[in-house]
Amino acid sequence: MKAITVEPHVSGSARLEDFPEPDQHEGSVLVEAIAVGVCGTDVEIVEGKYGWSPPGASRLVLGHESLGRVLDPGPSSALKAGDLVVGIVRRPDPVPCPNCAVGEWDMCRNTQYTERGIKEIHGFMSERWRIEPEYAMRVDKSLGLLGVLLEPTTVVAKAWEQVVAVGQRSFWEPRNVLVTGAGPIGLLAALIGKQRGLEVHVLDRVQTGSKPDLVRQLGATYHSCSVPEVGFEPDIIVECTGVGQVIVDCLKTASAGGVVCLTGVGSGGRTTGLPAADLASAMVLKNNVIVGSVNANKRHWYKAGAALSRADPAWLSQLVTRRERPEDFSKALSRQPDDIKVVVQFSAA
Ligand SMILES: [Zn+2]
Repeated sequence: MKAITVEPHVSGSARLEDFPEPDQHEGSVLVEAIAVGVCGTDVEIVEGKYGWSPPGASRLVLGHESLGRVLDPGPSSALKAGDLVVGIVRRPDPVPCPNCAVGEWDMCRNTQYTERGIKEIHGFMSERWRIEPEYAMRVDKSLGLLGVLLEPTTVVAKAWEQVVAVGQRSFWEPRNVLVTGAGPIGLLAALIGKQRGLEVHVLDRVQTGSKPDLVRQLGATYHSCSVPEVGFEPDIIVECTGVGQVIVDCLKTASAGGVVCLTGVGSGGRTTGLPAADLASAMVLKNNVIVGSVNANKRHWYKAGAALSRADPAWLSQLVTRRERPEDFSKALSRQPDDIKVVVQFSAA
């Protein structure tokens, strides 16, 4: 079968190649790939900055935002041939740490977890893949290709759970949320904010294209100014850019008692010149919390599926802005100005 593979930590090593059929040890459920979404992590892996192949292998099958159709459910009674499924990405560490031991692999303490398409387990960019039945999430058939949005939605489902967990440390009735960054994560965070009944604001640099329109279609407000210029003090900020200046601005602008959830993974950039002690003082005096959030456990996968099922499919379908064939995977990995979510499509949904 064809697979898109990479030699981790070797820049430019990605290729579409003939690859052995998925091994039985990868799971008893055999799945035909429909589509795999591409995100910044895939770009980093292809650039040689991240990623690990399975023990004993030199190459890693790329891809962690999956959607497939069950070909053979194996002994699983919960799945049927033809079901649409998405594979959970992370597996608990083998020790296991206390969090992995209770199924909270997203909160792994010892970093020995593994991840499909990222860390020591093959991903989903192959014509067929296998998965353990307990890690195969069935998605609503009516979602079709949009099921490929499930994995990024799990990331925001977890982030929202973290925000609520922190907020409930005191009496808390949040009215509004500011989402910084209108990429797939930001837009899906905004969607869940609306579903939670909040007044939603989304900030991004762009002034044209589909992002402002998608935000307005949600019934939310779009801002292309800086965070301090939005004109209100957000009760919740979901930060999805990973940009240093935006993060500092979020910490300064959050309301008293406000919660800032960081989901973006950036690096470097200019230093802001703001002394850490001054930032800390501002946060102390407003009882602010910054919470970092990454990955998702099975509860978040379940919640994300419910959120997608409740969303307007016409709105969701505008998030998938480009589909590329497997042989054109390098086009999928190079970002275009109007891209939101780009997918590599292996077969029809
Ligand atoms: Zn762990």
